[in-house]
Amino acid sequence: MKKTIHDIPVEGKRVLVRVDYNVPIDESGHITDDARIRETIPTLQTLLNAGAALILMAHFGRPKGKVDDSMRLAPVSQKLQELLGRDIQTARDTVGLEATALSKAIGAGQVLLLENTRFEAGEETNDPILAEKLASFGDVYVNDAFGAAHRAHASTEGVARAMRAQGKPAVAGLLMARELEFLGQLLQDPPRPFVAILGGVKVSDKIGVIRNLEEVADEILIGGAMSYAFEKAQNREVGTSYFKSEDAPIAAELLQLFKNNEAVLPAQDACRLHLPKDFLVADKDAEDAHIEYVEAGAIPADKMGMDIGPKTIADYVAVIESAKTILWNGPMGRFEVAPFSKGTLEIARAVGRATQKGALTIIGGGDSAAAVKQMGLSEQMSHVSTGGGASLEFLEGQELPGVAVLDDKGS
Ligand code: ADP
Ligand code: MG
Repeated sequence: MKKTIHDIPVEGKRVLVRVDYNVPIDESGHITDDARIRETIPTLQTLLNAGAALILMAHFGRPKGKVDDSMRLAPVSQKLQELLGRDIQTARDTVGLEATALSKAIGAGQVLLLENTRFEAGEETNDPILAEKLASFGDVYVNDAFGAAHRAHASTEGVARAMRAQGKPAVAGLLMARELEFLGQLLQDPPRPFVAILGGVKVSDKIGVIRNLEEVADEILIGGAMSYAFEKAQNREVGTSYFKSEDAPIAAELLQLFKNNEAVLPAQDACRLHLPKDFLVADKDAEDAHIEYVEAGAIPADKMGMDIGPKTIADYVAVIESAKTILWNGPMGRFEVAPFSKGTLEIARAVGRATQKGALTIIGGGDSAAAVKQMGLSEQMSHVSTGGGASLEFLEGQELPGVAVLDDKGS
């Protein structure tokens, strides 16, 4: 267990807080979803109420180590000001003269936001000099950026290490602690049955997760474009469906793993893998597509699979409704286009119903979180994770470098 902001004194301290404000924006630079900013408010408010001065660090976009005016944090600062209800000072540089002067001058109850950490070439290379410079700004380090914790960057890992070397505390923020608690429960002692639902398109990213979940989950339901890798692995036609040839051998390996386990483990201990029985196929990826339902193995060569079919939905809903723990990562189909959204919608509703009956339900993955939000079902879930890549690496069983470096409880 990692120490949190509740475990250390912060009154009168300069607290350096890493947040994840890498929010989506539209063409005109407006923030389209402020969830990541909103979710840090409890941490910031708690620290301010306790009499701390806050210096915030965040990255935005991929400026590749150079100043890029289109990726300045000004819009983020504006939104934070609104949500926090206080003035936010914004430095025009990350560790330059202005940042250094402002960080020295702020007092209790004040908030300073440093400019985009990725404007510094040393951020992504985890340069110790940059880390030292950042560390010199604060007396305490707090990491509340779960979504960036799988990267060992100067503002996530290096700075924490530098501060600890100086005898300064490095602890988790409240959002970070909540993410670790919910996701940790999945791998430790999940209420059973534990059902994992995996879909989306990032097949190679999710294979490692399936391998690790195979050891803790009871049922794994496959949907989305991931299905076609498993179809191909069984030498079935996938037509023009989304499919990358490098994914088929990995899917074949997984099929073998589940088969082997079934042969050696008692039925109640073996994790079962469910593949779609049927698909919705279309002639094109568009609102006015011609659609039909086909059995698995019968996708016409000139059609693309866009969603799971009604038999699969019925099957999966039954499994979900008896679950006590549910992890969902990856939409069941191309839900952004209306005719292909039914599978994702029905699964989301079933997960919502299971939560109401007392199941622990966790949504991981940016697009899955967006799907659940679009369907107005976010509030029904136990936890919607703010970190896509970070949650996947965590569920693969890897230790996140931005977390590993923080102080342990009892130390
Ligand atoms: P997440 O962000 O939740 O981890 P991914 O990024 O892996 O999920 O995949 C999300 C995307 O997968 C969505 O944009 C969705 O449209 C797409 N998708 C799901 N099923 C299909 C499919 N059958 N064909 C094409 N795209 C699909
Ligand atoms: Mg995604």
